[in-house]
Parts: sequence; structure tokens; C-alpha cells
Amino acid sequence: MVSPRDIPSVDQILQHPRTEQLLRAYGHAWTVSAIRELQDDLRCDLANLSAMPSDDALVDSLADILGTQSQASLRAVINATGVLLHTNLGRAPLARTALKAAEEAASAYSTLEYDLTKGKRSKRDVHASALLTRLTGGESALVVNNNAAAVFLALSALARGRKVAISRSQLVEIGGGFRIPDVMKQSGAKLFEVGTTNRTHLADFEQAIAEGASMLMMAHHSNFKIIGFTEEPALEDLARLAHQHNLPLVVDLGSGAFLDTAKYGLAHETTVQETLAKGADLVCFSGDKLLGGPQAGILVGRTDLLSKIRRHPLYRAIRADKLCLAALSATLDLTLRGKAEEEIPLYMMLARTPEDLRAQVDRWVDRLQAGSPLEGLSTVGGGSLPGETLPTCLLALNLKSPAKAAARLREAASPIIARVQDNLLLLDPRTVLPWQEEALLNALQTILNERKDRS
Ligand SMILES: *Cc1c(COP(=O)(O)O)cnc(C)c1O
Repeated sequence: MVSPRDIPSVDQILQHPRTEQLLRAYGHAWTVSAIRELQDDLRCDLANLSAMPSDDALVDSLADILGTQSQASLRAVINATGVLLHTNLGRAPLARTALKAAEEAASAYSTLEYDLTKGKRSKRDVHASALLTRLTGGESALVVNNNAAAVFLALSALARGRKVAISRSQLVEIGGGFRIPDVMKQSGAKLFEVGTTNRTHLADFEQAIAEGASMLMMAHHSNFKIIGFTEEPALEDLARLAHQHNLPLVVDLGSGAFLDTAKYGLAHETTVQETLAKGADLVCFSGDKLLGGPQAGILVGRTDLLSKIRRHPLYRAIRADKLCLAALSATLDLTLRGKAEEEIPLYMMLARTPEDLRAQVDRWVDRLQAGSPLEGLSTVGGGSLPGETLPTCLLALNLKSPAKAAARLREAASPIIARVQDNLLLLDPRTVLPWQEEALLNALQTILNERKDRS
């Protein structure tokens, strides 16, 4: 029978020669708290113990506890799902140049709000806005934390207490609790629903204006499609109508593409510059969807509207930080120079051909001496281009328990997220970054060897 009195004291474990190394790595306070946790575990487990473990074994357990506690929970993973903008996996990976810009801005003081020529204070918005206006033809730009914040800010600053007309077909929920009707209510704007779920006509908006709507809004459907007997007024028609009545048209564009997605065999996503050219007065979109940059909410459009937005107290609470502005500017710079396909991971992935992906899977099969190539589909994800797919080539592994193998891959030192479908373990090379390939193959080799050992 083991008694609680047999549990070694904190001091006894602290004095163990091997604890010294842990003390050096984790510090005194953290080590002591882990020892207390170890004592609690022993106390709970007392009934199952035939003898108290040796001090050596206890120090091993202590090292395990500290090892687990110190593992960062936000870690890099290898995305082998083929979903390019995987919301749960952090959407767009950044370009090297963008990372470098963020590192430079963060590791020293910077010109965040300082004008070097005048030797005076300036505004943080200037950094990304010159690039944004050049790229889009918009008059002004502003950057906040994310697109949800951008839409909320725009409505709060421009439409508090006023009626905002929007088609019923666009009262969407994006996910993560972002619902257009709720955002509108929170902002103090009054939702004026126009038309029906499947069909809304320009005349419905005319009626709304006659009934006092003071802003027109369009929201991208984002993650769903309406098909069949449907209609929505064209952007240019809605813009013309708004301007006839001297009202602004605000567009929540969601994914915010600058480049033509049709080039990759996907549907054409109306770009930011097209949206402005067709008459939108203000466009809001994400930085980490089809731009392929950092998390950000970008507002581009008329200077008078943006000045009003900038003066709203909420802007101060949700504005972008220097890391974001540096990475965003670098991403926009690459886009403007026509270097997206060479340097922005999202566009590098979009540009890959099925043949090139097939060759990569053939190399994997060769190296692993297992699995086979299988035609499949990659998707864009992130609420962008719903239902649109890119032909890809998958590595298909026919394993006894693909779900178990997928779980083992998630436990790898560089965790791997794969797909399980039709009882096959599937890995899409399109979303595996080049420098992650070696770790992926090593982890796969390990689980394949384990299987051989068992059989
Ligand atoms: C994704 C999306 C949002 C939210 O953007 P975040 O950058 O995730 O905050 C808002 N509106 C639409 C239409 C979207 O697609």
C-alpha cells in the first residue's frame, strides 16, 4: 500500500541532480509548479500504484510535464489538404519578402508614424495606401485588423441611425459569427432588406431609396452560391442608381482579388479595381484571402468617406499594427510588380499545373516505395470561390487504418494535416510548401515503416 506520505516533497525533487537541468531550462517558478502538478497526479493515482516510482522516474515524468507545457500551441503545420486558404490553418502563408519586411519593422524602431523629410509625426496609413491607390485606382485607403472590422467600421462611421439597403440574397453568415444583419445592428445602422432570397431587382432598390434608404450595400456571397431562378442587380447599375440619388454604394467584397482568378481555370472573381471602376464608392476586403498577405481589413475608395471613417473612435481600436502594415505593403508591392506567381505562396500554388503536381507525386511514390498518384481536386477555401476547384494530383496511400495514420501524421514533429476519403489517406502536394517536403516525406516514411514492423 502506497501512502500519501511516500510522495516526495518539492525540495526532494528539486534537489535531485537531474532536476538542475530542468531548472536551467524552465526557471524555478515553472519547475516548482510542475512538481506540484506531478505530486497531484501521484495523489490521484495512489490506489493504482504498487510502489512509489523511483526519484529518477519521477524526474522523467517532471521533464515530460514541462516538455508538454512548454510546447507552443500555435505551431507551423504542413497543409496537405489541398485547401489553399484553409481558415483553420491560418489562411494565406506569407511571402518571404513580406516576412522580411515585418521582421525589419519589428526588430528596430521604424517610420510607423514618422515623416523623415519633415522630421515630424505622420500617419500610419500612408504606408499601404500609396500602393493600394496605385493598384486599384481608388482615391484613398485605410487598413484595419480584418475585413469583419472594416465592414463594421464603415457601417458605424457612415450609417449610424440610417437605413442601409441590401439585397436579401446577400444577408450572409461568413462563419465565426460574422453575419451581415448582426454586424449592421451592432453598428447602429438600420438594415433595409430589399427583394427576396433568390431575386432582387434594381426597382427594389429604387423603392428602398424612396422609403428613405441613405446608403446602398452589396456583400459578396462568400461561401455559398445561389443557383436557379435568381437575379441581383449588376454592380454598375446599382452604383448608377446610388449616384443619381447622391448616395454611397459600399461593397463588402470579401476575398479581395487583384489578379484574374480565371487565369487558373477558376471563375473570374471581380477584382478590387474592377469593383471601383464599376462605381463602388467604398470597397472592403481581407488581406489574407486572395491577396495572399497578412490578416488585415482593407478599405479603399472615396477620400471624403475614408476621412469620416478615419475620424471614428472605433478606427483607433481596430487599426492595423506595424507588422501587418509592413507585410501588407511588401505583398502589395510584389503584386504591383507582377511578381505574385514567383513570390506570393498563394499564387505560386494556384499557378501549379496538374502535370507538375503529378511529377511531384511520382517522385514521392518513388522515394516512399508506397502509394500511387490519384487525380483529385484542390479548392481555394477561406470563403473564396465556393464550389470552384483546381485539378490536382494526390498521393493516395491504401492503409489498414487511414484515420489512425492521419492521426499519427498530426503528431509528427512538423504536424501534417492530410485528407481521409474513401478509406484512403490522401495528400495534396499543391499546398505543401517546398521547404516542408522533406519533413513530410520523413514522417510518411516513419508511419509506413511502423506498419511494416507490425506485419
Ligand atoms: C471573409 C469575409 C469577411 C470577413 O473577413 P475577415 O478578414 O475574415 O474578417 C467579411 N465579408 C465577406 C463577404 C467575406 O468573404
